[in-house]
Amino acid sequence: MSDTPGAQWNAGDTEADAKSHLLSPSEEMAKLGQSMRPLIAYGEGIHVVDAHGRRIIDGPAGMWCTQIGYGRKEIADAVSAQALKLSYNSPWYTTNSPSAELARRIAEVTPGDLNRVFFTTGGSTAVDSALRFTEFYNNVLGRPEKKHIIVRREGYHGSTSLTAACSGRSFNWQNFDIASPRITFISSPNIRQAPGLSEAQFLDQLVREFEDTIAKIGSDKVAAFLAEPLLASGGVIIPPKGYHARIKAVCEEHDIIYISDEVVTAFGRCGEWFASEKVFGVVPDIITFAKGVTSGYVPLGGFAVSERLIAKVSGENAKGSYYSNGYTYSSHPVSCAAALANMDVIEKDGILEHVRDVAVHFAEGLRSLKGLPHVADIRVEGLVGCVECLVDPSSPEVTDRDKKLGGRIDTHCFDLGLLVRPLGNICVLSPPLIITKAEIDQMIGILRQGILKAAADLKEPVAA
Ligand code: PMP
Repeated sequence: MSDTPGAQWNAGDTEADAKSHLLSPSEEMAKLGQSMRPLIAYGEGIHVVDAHGRRIIDGPAGMWCTQIGYGRKEIADAVSAQALKLSYNSPWYTTNSPSAELARRIAEVTPGDLNRVFFTTGGSTAVDSALRFTEFYNNVLGRPEKKHIIVRREGYHGSTSLTAACSGRSFNWQNFDIASPRITFISSPNIRQAPGLSEAQFLDQLVREFEDTIAKIGSDKVAAFLAEPLLASGGVIIPPKGYHARIKAVCEEHDIIYISDEVVTAFGRCGEWFASEKVFGVVPDIITFAKGVTSGYVPLGGFAVSERLIAKVSGENAKGSYYSNGYTYSSHPVSCAAALANMDVIEKDGILEHVRDVAVHFAEGLRSLKGLPHVADIRVEGLVGCVECLVDPSSPEVTDRDKKLGGRIDTHCFDLGLLVRPLGNICVLSPPLIITKAEIDQMIGILRQGILKAAADLKEPVAA
């Protein structure tokens, strides 16, 4: 590794430091400090390179975020130039030029009249701030009772107390005290959980459940509906066609704010700047974003809110109402400069058009895995997709054996040179958006081998 970007790096020291001092966001605490996850030395394009110099395709694009790939000099230069020019200013009583320009450029590509942009430090703070905006909104309008939030099981919205409480995956709840009486869960739009129903029947059932839930709580008490366009961390669950538009119509009827959590889908993942309108047919009241806004080079998130909502709580309508909510690092100049450079690269390289082109190939590749042993379902939209594997593919239940099977596939893929996002029995791929058709073939080929190897393992007695 002498002349590689990771040459100065001592893997032994890093391993010792990590084992003794790092607490990562996901730890089996009984084994804290005993094992080591793969050490990533550096990244190049769609690849990461580990401590042994092994090049691995970054199947999940980090965490659905490294849109333009690793090692882009344009971003490094923008970060460096901004850090030298103005590394920080307080967003509470000053303004910087990168954040103002970025707000304008984001407003230009959001749907509808979502033209006012608030910047945060990442996805959780983006969703948290959007929800807190709805509190502010209803308080200013003199409706303190209208505070309830409706969310879906299997959704994921972040790791602050409020956003974790809005997340419907049980392991986010284990050992944390986040339950809130003002949050209500409705069904995930996962058709696998409704055997025997057609897509249209399932959609009617979901809309009815939403209406019934509002009626039960009282529409004068429901403030917001919060939803990802597709449930990403919940297992790439794509709702029935027309779902979001139907739900939005119900929201409008009851004066409920529709928040689209586009932390995963924005900035190109589905071939558009934002997926809500152009891919999923809905113009939300608020859209949250993070991840792809900087392609993961530096942390940044935010939300865009409609002029219609802003008008109701500003100017003549808001005498004496002070909006005080934000972060030391809201509108951070270096992060915003990185995001501007990222948007430039996406435009200059035609990345949205590229995604729309290669997404067809990606979908065909994933669907070609149907028929392999244990493959129960394949779901794909844009450059995000998954293969759901079950020991018995006809079973509606997901057991620990299924999760072990998923883990085996991930491990085989890693050994063969492909990182797969581990999500229990679901193998997720959401590669950097610059991936070529040949690289997609390579990625799918490795996943195919990983599934076949894991299937062969299952024929052997599985170690407990
Ligand atoms: N919303 C969605 C839809 C997400 O997928 C995530 C993170 N995976 C978040 C919010 C939270 O973002 P962050 O981890 O940047 O705080």
